[in-house]
Amino acid sequence: MGLIVQKFGGTSVKDRNRIFNVARIVANTRNQGNDVVVVVSAQGDTTDDLIAKAAEITGDPSHREMDMLLATGEQISIALLAMALQEIGVPSISLTGWQAGFSTDRAYTKARIKRLNTERVESELARNRVVVVAGFQGLNRSEDITTLGRGGSDTSAVALAAALHADRCQIFTDVEGVFTADPRKIPKATKLKEITFDEMLELASLGAQVLNNRSVELAKKYGVELEVLSSINPVPGTVVKEETQVEGMLIKGVAKDEDVAVISILEVPDVPGMSFKVFSLLAQKNINVDIILQSSGRDNCKDVIFTCPKGEAETAMSVLGANKSRFGGGEITINRDVAKVSVVGAGMQSHPGTASTMFEALYSQNINIHMISTSEIKISVIIDKADADKAVAAIHDAFIQ
Ligand code: ADP
Ligand code: ASP
Ligand code: MG
Repeated sequence: MGLIVQKFGGTSVKDRNRIFNVARIVANTRNQGNDVVVVVSAQGDTTDDLIAKAAEITGDPSHREMDMLLATGEQISIALLAMALQEIGVPSISLTGWQAGFSTDRAYTKARIKRLNTERVESELARNRVVVVAGFQGLNRSEDITTLGRGGSDTSAVALAAALHADRCQIFTDVEGVFTADPRKIPKATKLKEITFDEMLELASLGAQVLNNRSVELAKKYGVELEVLSSINPVPGTVVKEETQVEGMLIKGVAKDEDVAVISILEVPDVPGMSFKVFSLLAQKNINVDIILQSSGRDNCKDVIFTCPKGEAETAMSVLGANKSRFGGGEITINRDVAKVSVVGAGMQSHPGTASTMFEALYSQNINIHMISTSEIKISVIIDKADADKAVAAIHDAFIQ
């Protein structure tokens, strides 16, 4: 007897059959004597379809209206799942994000959860109902609908698990767990039994879509162990937790992120304060700068190169262009045809040579590296987008038998 939060992603609720499949999983969990809170995403490609609908109207939609639109996807799923549960005899009620108590900040399309008032959810549980909550959405202080960014339903589920002190938080998806690489792209990828929050946070932030990175951040902060598993094949999945058994694995996974642009500011004067001038401008515009590279000075000049998400690159280019004279007036270029490929694993801290193995794998495929960035548990390279899939396969082969 306990309280279990179960989250089901878009593929898991994509049609009538999948919805009844989810209803049966929930019913089984409840029949074992548990209270169940379910979080669902929009069905199938609904969110992408809604984004495409907005694009038919305007190239620059208001972020507030975008959230009004996108939040409708999850509302369809909660109602249909609650109906399916009732149909098979399970008392249930659907709640939107705001009915479930999600208050967020004002950042439309990428809002953060500020508070979670679980009173309504708890009172529905006390009435012996399964509570089906719309993921990905909340309400800000102006009582406007907000969404939490792509993949945000994972975060809704973890937040509920933390606030309700749930005994388990299960993230059901369309693969059997967290793999050493995207199993749809790398058939040789193997399923991990367990992975630490820190490793998963890196993998998620570096492009492994299976969990949203904020959800992992939240899980680590509140100590919510996650179980990632398939809604189709009832086999053990992957547990994400603070510490794992030593598995002797040097790296846990290879990830690819194509949402990267490289911006280069050429011939910046080689004097103090230039980096500050560049990056304070970017900070004022909320640009998420990732990797920074600065060439060593020559002829009293240097180049400053950085990466940011593609969606922020236009803003970065225009703010830098408008202030060009403040850092030398040199050329500013952008390259969107790049990808970031990364290896992640706590094991690399105690194993010298990880970088060399990775670079050898890239060399074996004749792939040129544009930028490199490392932390204690990851190594990332920026390469041409056209080489990315080949790179992931070669690196995966080099590390994982
Ligand atoms: P959901 O709709 O259930 O939230 P997502 O599409 O967001 O599912 O995430 C699951 C997908 O993540 C998988 O179908 C898989 O293609 C992709 N993926 C990328 N990297 C990994 C990885 N390392 N392990 C498992 N899945 C991964
Ligand atoms: N429906 C939203 C998306 O597609 C949220 C989610 O699925 O987690 O990003
Ligand atoms: Mg997802």
